[in-house]
Amino acid sequence: SNIPKIVILGAGYGGVLTALRLQKELNYNEADVTLVNKHDYHYFTTHLHMPAAGTDAHENARVSISKLIDEFKIDFVKSTVVQIRPQDKKVILEDGTLSYDYLVIGLGGEPETFGIPGLAEHAMNIRSINSVRLIREHIDYQFARYKREPHRTDYLTFIVGGAGFTGIEFIGELADRIPVLCKEFDVDPSLVKIYNIEAAPTALPGFDPELVEYGMNVLTKKGVTFRIGTAIKECTAEGVVVGEGEEIKSATVIWTGGIRGNRLIEEAGFETMRGRVKIDEFLRCPGHENIYIVGDNSLMFNPEGRPYPPTAQIAMQQGVVCANNLVASIRNQPLKTFVFSNKGTVASLGKGEAIGVAFGKKYKGRFAALLKKVIDIRYLFIIGGIPLVLRKGKFF
Ligand code: FAD
Ligand code: NAD
Repeated sequence: SNIPKIVILGAGYGGVLTALRLQKELNYNEADVTLVNKHDYHYFTTHLHMPAAGTDAHENARVSISKLIDEFKIDFVKSTVVQIRPQDKKVILEDGTLSYDYLVIGLGGEPETFGIPGLAEHAMNIRSINSVRLIREHIDYQFARYKREPHRTDYLTFIVGGAGFTGIEFIGELADRIPVLCKEFDVDPSLVKIYNIEAAPTALPGFDPELVEYGMNVLTKKGVTFRIGTAIKECTAEGVVVGEGEEIKSATVIWTGGIRGNRLIEEAGFETMRGRVKIDEFLRCPGHENIYIVGDNSLMFNPEGRPYPPTAQIAMQQGVVCANNLVASIRNQPLKTFVFSNKGTVASLGKGEAIGVAFGKKYKGRFAALLKKVIDIRYLFIIGGIPLVLRKGKFF
């Protein structure tokens, strides 16, 4: 048939929003849409710090894709993309091949290790349902191991590398979880050490300094030790090496030191910066009018020439414009320019505590934590309406 084929790679924030919008906007038989994703569920990356620490179940951080999309309108393929071949307009999957007329790439980021020795082998990352299940089980296991080998206090030392938003949100949950685990395993809480190691001169570099100070105070009171201005130089099976060769022994290192784009993007031959493609104002890949890139795989600059940080917020907004532009292309109508509308940033610090900037104002404490909940629930509503809010929304 000569119905145009749209293939969307990745059912993350960008991919799901693109698919949902296409489903709404396209007329019957106007295009064939296929959504490809590694898992048969969509996960809320923004919620992963909780199941990682064990303060919430991972089921609350994911939803079946079949519950989100209308499978009469969109074909869902559960498979892993192994290669993108723009020259042939094909995508190679682990178990097949797809042809496309239009491609949307929303495969999300990968941990950036900056070539630091041992990080890829010995550290864990907060990236997916599977990666956080590993972290949660690993942390519990350290307590169990310690009971058998009580001289090994390194089993009770937990290191988070990087005090960006991911590191800070995770360590807030971890600090909440430790007292529970101490009780469960009969461990003296004073033996547990939680380090957050940050290379920059401050935690949350670039964020409002007053809120950063507030956040660090909250976390310090919960038992977190900050090592600011201290870079991780190496990671081994025994712990990390920081600064000028100081070793911190630990059986648990969680690396939250940064992300890059998916490796498949550069392997496809696109020009990238840390795995991200500088897209045009319509979200297209330069030199490929039929390829759109959304979310963590894309790179866009603000009017001051600084790159927008990769967030769920921008990925969602890009998904909406991407779908709009795909429909416009098919209908030979003019494309819409993407303009980012910054709604603010709120980061949680564990139960009942958060910091944030929104609507041009600063928030901290309980109210900020409430704001964070509202943002999470709003997202559930956008993708799944009231039923999803009722099933996954955490109101307390
Ligand atoms: P993702 O959401 O990462 O989705 C990518 C999808 O592609 C996944 O479903 C994955 O399974 C799939 N995939 C990957 N590789 C393949 C393959 N080879 N084949 C098939 N499928 C594949 N941002 C905010 O705006 N607000 C927040 O509060 C916030 N909190 C965060 C908290 C944490 C702990 C973390 C880690 C991140 C947070 N972020 C937040 C950032 C945000 O999660 C990301 O920017 C966002 O997920 C990017 O969306 P995406 O669509 O590009 O990719
Ligand atoms: P990031 O790049 O924002 O932060 C990484 C941190 O690690 C930086 O502070 C960096 O200085 C530090 N670091 C790098 N190398 C180091 C080393 N060798 N030793 C010690 N520290 C080192 O990464 P992230 O926190 O994963 O965030 C990724 C994206 O997701 C960002 O755009 C962020 O805004 C977004 N995010 C948002 C939220 C939220 O809005 N609540 C939560 C999580 C993530």
